[in-house]
Amino acid sequence: MSRIAYVNGRYLPHAEASVHVEDRGFQFSDGVYEVFAVAHGALIDEELHLVRLARSLAELRIAKPHTDAVLKHLFREVLRRNRVRNGMLYLQITRGAAPRDHAFPKDVRPTVVITAKPARLADPAIAARGVDVVTIPDIRWRRVDIKSVSLLPNVLGKQHAKEAGAYEAWMVTEAGEVTEGTSTNAWIVTKYGALVTRKADTSILNGITRLTVLRLAREHDLAIEERSFTLSEALDAAEAFLTSTTSYVMPVVRINGKLVGGGTPGTFTRKLLAEYRSYVAR
Ligand code: PMP
Repeated sequence: MSRIAYVNGRYLPHAEASVHVEDRGFQFSDGVYEVFAVAHGALIDEELHLVRLARSLAELRIAKPHTDAVLKHLFREVLRRNRVRNGMLYLQITRGAAPRDHAFPKDVRPTVVITAKPARLADPAIAARGVDVVTIPDIRWRRVDIKSVSLLPNVLGKQHAKEAGAYEAWMVTEAGEVTEGTSTNAWIVTKYGALVTRKADTSILNGITRLTVLRLAREHDLAIEERSFTLSEALDAAEAFLTSTTSYVMPVVRINGKLVGGGTPGTFTRKLLAEYRSYVAR
């Protein structure tokens, strides 16, 4: 079966789907995106993703091209046409195509692209072992809370991780604080049993999985500290893990080659992963 992509009102064979050469997403990274997990035919945390999308668009002053009701209809249509019941759905919205000029063009229509593919998310075999992370300097701009398609430092960082044989790269500020991974949020559990993740300031993307894991942790009365933590605190932590739409809750067992919490997924981490999995299953 051939894949179908939605582009500006049309459903096209994936291989023929394209945007204009003067699309501002291509020319300037002038656009935003969202990635949704699809489980048993449902979009996980769809409402939270739509809230974050609206915020990203508003921060960049890109007009919202469709109501949430229309977007939801389009998502379902793309899933249906691609027969995706478990996998991922991508949405990109750019400011649109216009003659090249840095300043906003007048009367431009945003470009909307929606694609979906089947995938097995958060491989249980990998989660059972836990993963390696390496650290890199955080060289990004100061508004990474906006989910923009401008991802060059993240691309370079993920490639660095891959070449180092690691699953992810955690980005560290000049002050030694871990902000987040290149496509995931970063967490530790202290020796005193507190769950620590950076507060959602402008230095991280407020992950939807982060929000849901925080809610699940609160419901289970775990001690939560939304604050920054340093690399040395992480190296000294009882447990570490990362979260994202596609990785769920992924135990981290080595940072820069040094064992965290004995080198096996920790108790809190495994509990949160189990909670998150049952939330997704529901
Ligand atoms: N941080 C960054 C930089 C990301 O790209 C992502 C994934 N989009 C996340 C965190 C995790 O966010 P989410 O849980 O919404 O996938």
